Amino acid sequence: MDITPTLIAYLHLCHRKIWLHAKHLRMESSSDLVAEGRLIGEITYPQRAGKWQEIDLGIGKIDFFDAKTNTVHEVKKSNKKEQSHIAQVKYYLYLLEKIGVENPRAVIEYPKLRIVENVEWDSETDSIEVEQWLSTATNILQGTCPPKMSKSKCKKCSYFDFCWSGEED
Ligand code: SF4
Repeated sequence: MDITPTLIAYLHLCHRKIWLHAKHLRMESSSDLVAEGRLIGEITYPQRAGKWQEIDLGIGKIDFFDAKTNTVHEVKKSNKKEQSHIAQVKYYLYLLEKIGVENPRAVIEYPKLRIVENVEWDSETDSIEVEQWLSTATNILQGTCPPKMSKSKCKKCSYFDFCWSGEED
């Protein structure tokens, strides 16, 4: 199975979430949080489409890529920085390097926080780390559905109702 950038992000959030998503159990389309994220990207940066290009990596799409500086621009609607965001863009950088893009880098923008996170790529160390993520993800997807996380960590997850409906608090 192809490991998409979304799956790498989910790997860093919850092993059950990556498994459910990979099995095509999708809850995101009905999630207001995901819809809100898309909207923030479109409203905050309407000029981007003309400035930077979209790159289809086959297993995922980079919406905004600056080919002059080999920089991926990623927008996150989140109220906090998360390791899953960095993991996702590092996977983009890994894939870009694989197709011959030299010295790729990324910028993660958080409009709600008004901050920007720069993500650099170290070909030697980062590629090893990404390959470990791919291996872990593959092992999870070959197994049975992983257990739930503690409920306190699930509140904003799009699978919350799926995992917790009918459960006592
Ligand atoms: S609701 Fe919790 S256990 Fe279920 S997928 Fe989301 S984070 Fe994982």
